[in-house]
Amino acid sequence: MQSTTETVIARYLTTAGSGISDAELTVDIIDEVHARGRLRLVCRGCTWAHELATDSYVDDTEEETAERVARILPVARESAQSHAETCRALPVGGA
Ligand SMILES: [Zn+2]
Repeated sequence: MQSTTETVIARYLTTAGSGISDAELTVDIIDEVHARGRLRLVCRGCTWAHELATDSYVDDTEEETAERVARILPVARESAQSHAETCRALPVGGA
């Protein structure tokens, strides 16, 4: 599907998710088309969220944008993974 405006770059199963075999309990690293300049980290199990600046400019080319994302990605991965490892939260209600 090309209609989506955000791309999940990486996804980490949380401790809670692995405990109950719920593949939806993840920490996602998200690249938003309309929010170039930052990567968003979101936990689906709790309210934890984090943003990392990629230092992109509006007139960056696609290659420059990809390079900036690639540069910040190791930090994003480390941060997402360390939250996933400690997150035991289960979402309540909703449905
Ligand atoms: Zn969490």
